[in-house]
Amino acid sequence: MPTQQPMVLVALETSDDVARELERRFGADYRVVVAAGETDAAARLADAAAAGQAVALVLGDSADPRLYVETRRLHPDARRGFVLAWGDWARAETSDTVLALMAANHIDYYVVRPRFSPDESFNRAITDFLRDHQRATGAGGSDVTSIEGDADRARRHGLVTALPDGSVDLAIVGAGPGGLAAAVYAASEGLDTLVLERRSVGGQAGSSSLIRNYLGFSRGVSGAELAERAYQQAWVFGARFAVTREAVGVAEVDGGFVLEVAPQLPEGQGELVSAGAVVLATGVSYRRLALPGLDPYLGISVFYGVSATEARAQTGRVVYVVGGGNSAGQAAVFLSRHAGHVHILVRKSGLAETMSDYLVERIAMSPRITLHPFSEVTGVFGETNLQEVEWIDDRTRETTRIACGSLFVMIGAEPNTDWLRTCLPLDEKGFVLTGRDAEGKALESPYATSRDGIYAVGDVRAGSVKRVAAGVGEGSIVIQAVHRYLDRNA
Ligand SMILES: Cc1cc2nc3c(=O)[nH]c(=O)nc-3n(C[C@H](O)[C@H](O)[C@H](O)COP(=O)(O)OP(=O)(O)OC[C@H]3O[C@@H](n4cnc5c(N)ncnc54)[C@H](O)[C@@H]3O)c2cc1C
Repeated sequence: MPTQQPMVLVALETSDDVARELERRFGADYRVVVAAGETDAAARLADAAAAGQAVALVLGDSADPRLYVETRRLHPDARRGFVLAWGDWARAETSDTVLALMAANHIDYYVVRPRFSPDESFNRAITDFLRDHQRATGAGGSDVTSIEGDADRARRHGLVTALPDGSVDLAIVGAGPGGLAAAVYAASEGLDTLVLERRSVGGQAGSSSLIRNYLGFSRGVSGAELAERAYQQAWVFGARFAVTREAVGVAEVDGGFVLEVAPQLPEGQGELVSAGAVVLATGVSYRRLALPGLDPYLGISVFYGVSATEARAQTGRVVYVVGGGNSAGQAAVFLSRHAGHVHILVRKSGLAETMSDYLVERIAMSPRITLHPFSEVTGVFGETNLQEVEWIDDRTRETTRIACGSLFVMIGAEPNTDWLRTCLPLDEKGFVLTGRDAEGKALESPYATSRDGIYAVGDVRAGSVKRVAAGVGEGSIVIQAVHRYLDRNA
């Protein structure tokens, strides 16, 4: 009879101290299994998979990635930790091993051996792994980022979908990092704050499986967890949220603003919210590649952006970039510093129409980048990691299926501003213009729009840096300008 307790597998050269501490703290809820070497560990993983038993965590200390690869293949939700001794990170050989295993996504993080008992640093690191596993399996309670615009589901998660009675000091539109930061700062500084969100809390960041570059989270943080923490933080300061509610219009009325909110089906009509000031944090929607079978590779070997970590992880690999705009060009050039070779797939005849000249030249001159015009991706193949990509040549209708380490999809992003076109100046791509009036004169805040009392932060703002930290920074700073505006209009 298979036990319901998930397994923690210890596959170390010396395992006594680690196994003892694990058993002591986690033994009641997890089955701690010590493997006698890597072959035994692989057999234990296979036995567990055959018996339908969950593996929550595998701890290894080998630079050879085979055990971690096997773990990922048989137990995709299991976390993989590399165990090292206290101070060992200072040795170049160990740090190179850990960085290489992490860059190749063979391990999730490292953990330092317990030095005494109880060692709470060790236990906390293990708890983090186990919590990540629980989250990955969908266990572990409510997740405010998962409601995806479904009002019933939102209410079941204890979220509010109704609009408040009366007016608020500040209405924030969008609960991505920018909107959440604005909500935390506004509510903590005494403003009666309402956040309207049409889908789920977290925005684009909420869909990111691991944000590696956000300050203070050395092992990375899932976008869902970051969003949930920020939501709770804003809530305890008193910010109110109305999720699954989309702002569809804004008008100036009696020195304040009235936001029109889309109907909440099936209950009925659209509703109105009155606010003294408005912060727009509606972000962008990345164009997704509509390709069957792509989603399981997201964040593993299919990416909608290139961070330095992802670029380094491509060392020596053959990678593909889809897209012909500047973001695709920059990604290709950046990736070519690390990757063995970069292929760019574009549907048009070339890059000249869509990419800046300097990038077109750099791509043409690089022996490590090959451009494939008239090409469209038609398939992706592999087990847990992407192994092959298939594309079709639109002229000849010939298909090519070839090895591919990672696929970077850079086919553009559109700001969520259709509803603002008639009331705010936008740039030619639809991003909200801030910081200067129509004559080019500086406004009182870099986040002010030319409509006094309406501000924009994060990805939706023309010229913004499209990053979590940038959205958070802007959302925090804008509140000072909101206070000044509200004081002037009091
Ligand atoms: C897959 C992925 C991975 C990423 N990884 C990283 C990373 O590792 N590091 C990093 O720094 N950045 C990363 N980014 C970029 C980062 O997520 C964004 O820069 C950041 O989320 C922008 O925050 P924002 O608040 O401006 O907008 P968004 O996150 O886009 O949030 C906007 C919110 O507004 C809502 N909204 C839109 N219109 C309306 C409306 N009319 N009414 C009500 N609500 C509305 C949307 O539903 C959304 O929830 C990643 C992006 C993606 C897509």
